[in-house]
Amino acid sequence: MIPRTDLPADLRLDTLAVREGLPPTQWGENSEALFLTSSFVHPDAATAARRFANEEDAFVYSRFSNPTVTMMERRLAALEGMGGCIGTSSGMSAILMLILGLLKAGDHVVCSQSVFGSTIKLFQDFAKFGINTSFVSQTEPAAWRAAMTPATRLLFAESPTNPLTEVCDIAALAEIAQAGGALLAVDNCFCSPALQRPVTLGADLVIHSGTKYLDGQGRVIAGAVCGPEDLIASKFVPVMRSAGMSLSPFNAWVVLKGMETLGVRMQAQSARALQLAHWLQEQPAVEHVYYPGLPSHPQHALAMAQQSGSGGAVVSFLVRGGREGAFRVIDGTRVCSITANLGDTKTTITHPSSTSHGRLSEAQRLAAGIRQGLVRVAVGLDDINDIQADLLHGLQAPA
Ligand SMILES: *Cc1c(COP(=O)(O)O)cnc(C)c1O
Repeated sequence: MIPRTDLPADLRLDTLAVREGLPPTQWGENSEALFLTSSFVHPDAATAARRFANEEDAFVYSRFSNPTVTMMERRLAALEGMGGCIGTSSGMSAILMLILGLLKAGDHVVCSQSVFGSTIKLFQDFAKFGINTSFVSQTEPAAWRAAMTPATRLLFAESPTNPLTEVCDIAALAEIAQAGGALLAVDNCFCSPALQRPVTLGADLVIHSGTKYLDGQGRVIAGAVCGPEDLIASKFVPVMRSAGMSLSPFNAWVVLKGMETLGVRMQAQSARALQLAHWLQEQPAVEHVYYPGLPSHPQHALAMAQQSGSGGAVVSFLVRGGREGAFRVIDGTRVCSITANLGDTKTTITHPSSTSHGRLSEAQRLAAGIRQGLVRVAVGLDDINDIQADLLHGLQAPA
């Protein structure tokens, strides 16, 4: 009922990124319209009744759906190679939607212990509703298999992880999930579909923080769940209607237009990150570089196979001299933005121990491999030679 774009089958990612969505309105606009409206008008009461009863597909109220949000959802679903997608107000509310839509008291989740900090917190919070989560090693599929119980309904992974860029074997986890009658959800924030399509490796659901590479310019908070069309319609659309973690049309439009440049941005930012990672390895003040694109990375081969031969755009490195050494590097910069966000065209730099992982105890941080000397750089579109010069101030400063 809601029409589809008239496009040939088998279009490639870069074409889908600028074309997929909804057909234009009667005015024939070439750039996608922004529908800032909370509700939609019906021709008569009987039609309104049919639409509210879900007997006729139409836009009714923007908490449920909105044409700009639908365009963003269809575009992202196409990029991920999945049948359906539902936009949410943030990446975290996408994970909340996943839990509310799929799980009930008594169900069990297996999750990587290295996923985004707020994701760990959210799964832990659901213990009070009777949903328990086992946290296991990101890189050892055997640990995931061992954690499975008859009550396991969901496996949740993220790859590569923040900030240590650990890579999990998505195909191996998909096999474990399937054997146990559970679903595998992958947070694809760090690679985006431009580098990694979890569905091709057997994942059932893909989570996004649209805030990061999909927007790509650090402007809005947004999120999405992608999956088979029937699963999205049966499990998540009803949650959206009642719980209302809706994506605003304006934010959807920003992400929709951001996705048009996703492919070229991911290629350019990853190429810069690779150059930076090699350069960092040569610096005497740097003890270790964490980047999947380096042959020294423990899951380098897996990452190259899984991520289109690319390491992504996030590089972390351990500076000699602990926290002081790390602060010296961060405070020596004048170009990099000192902020914990990532996926921006502006290169960002952060100290994970005191920001994203600041709420953990030092013992928990060390168990996670996050040391005081660790610095994370999310490479943007700055000329990487300028970023190297920017980092050199602190790397060369006398201790
Ligand atoms: C930022 C982030 C999230 C949360 O997304 P928000 O849009 O900030 O809610 C989830 N997962 C990963 C990997 C992230 O980097």
